[in-house]
Amino acid sequence: MERKNEGFVKGRTNANRMKSAVKKNVKKEVGKEIKRLPRTNRKPREMAQKRENGKKSEDVVFKKNKLKIIPLGGLQEVGKNITVFEYENDIILVDCGVSFPEDDMLGIDLVIPDFTYLVKNKDRIRGLVITHGHEDHIGSIPYFLKQINVPIYATKLTVGLITNKLEEHRLTKQTKLHTVKQGDTITLGKFQVEFIKSCHSIPDAVALAIHTPVGVIVHTGDFKIDYTPINDDTMDFGRLAELGNQGVLALMSDSTNAERKGYTMSERTVGEVFDKLFINCKKRIVVATFASNVYRIQQIVNSAVANNRKIAVSGRSMVNMIETAMKLGYIDVPKNVFIDIDMIGNYTDEQLVIITTGSQGEPMSALTRMATGEHRKVHISANDLVIISATPIPGNEKFVAKVIDDLMKIGAEVVYSSLADVHVSRTCLPRGAKIDACFGQAKIFYSSAWRISSFDCA
Ligand SMILES: [Zn+2]
Repeated sequence: MERKNEGFVKGRTNANRMKSAVKKNVKKEVGKEIKRLPRTNRKPREMAQKRENGKKSEDVVFKKNKLKIIPLGGLQEVGKNITVFEYENDIILVDCGVSFPEDDMLGIDLVIPDFTYLVKNKDRIRGLVITHGHEDHIGSIPYFLKQINVPIYATKLTVGLITNKLEEHRLTKQTKLHTVKQGDTITLGKFQVEFIKSCHSIPDAVALAIHTPVGVIVHTGDFKIDYTPINDDTMDFGRLAELGNQGVLALMSDSTNAERKGYTMSERTVGEVFDKLFINCKKRIVVATFASNVYRIQQIVNSAVANNRKIAVSGRSMVNMIETAMKLGYIDVPKNVFIDIDMIGNYTDEQLVIITTGSQGEPMSALTRMATGEHRKVHISANDLVIISATPIPGNEKFVAKVIDDLMKIGAEVVYSSLADVHVSRTCLPRGAKIDACFGQAKIFYSSAWRISSFDCA
């Protein structure tokens, strides 16, 4: 520790020395300029005029032409992303998402940003630009459009997902929805917005370079650095480096888990884990994941096809997402692999995979209803392997824990948490075997959480 501190102090001293060296140079430069001025042969009035003009241009730069960046949501919170960029008479918006209610928001389904400022300034808004199709970036669009109608710019899959929302809210006709490609640049008033190929858990994600009269703002959107992504959707590091070399005014970057050290696993490794779980499995497999994780769905499809299983889908958002992604060519699947959920009775457990929503333990989701025996079409038994292929978003842990508890009570085998770790280190025993093992040592067994109890005694 001491050594580190020493090094740090030394480094700071050097840096200070450099800083003061730079300052001295600046002073010298200024000094030179002042000295040079009297040597010119200009008349005094001309010089005064010039000084006056100089003042004016300074005023214009520092007082009038300011770029304002105003986050109306998404700062110091998870979700509800929306940022205003304002320069002179032009405003553009980046993203328009929802967040989900906190524990104390009883009776609230969705939380949307406060649009008051935008309603007041609606005539100045030149467009809404979307980075990717996650709910916390597109979920508020219909509520926004009901108050302010502006053109929207997004990539193909994102446009597809926004279209579903517009149809639901009957806003399709009046909305100007434009599809852009990764690499395109559009002009919105004094802003030029460049869409840079990015990599995230949903295809077609973009980072933005917002070119303004006072400099370039790089807005990364959500991203995941994955060198071996599915569909080779790597981030355009070249363009980002180029912008970095040219010099940007501001970098706006945020990513869930950014505080964690190390690297996120490549999406491809998750596919390998699915293969290991699927092969030789005699049970019905139920996989819960985010509806928007199209890459994950593709990998479930791949493992299902390789093991001759049919796939049924449960949960409205999952059905909508898979339909849209398949229609636009983002999920590659042979014919007749997907079956209607009503047809699962025609197949044995070994021939089936059910992809479902509810990986966050959301109270009304399909997986939660399955776990509590309230799902009308899927009845969980000891012959189910349930894979929860998503880590809980901060705050959702207890909901997920409850779902896992309920599934294990029924006797289902549950694989959860970080999928690869779980697979490597742990195979869940059927509930019956666990109870037997426990009762061999203790007559009374009690814990507030079934999930923890199960592993204590395994
Ligand atoms: Zn996202």
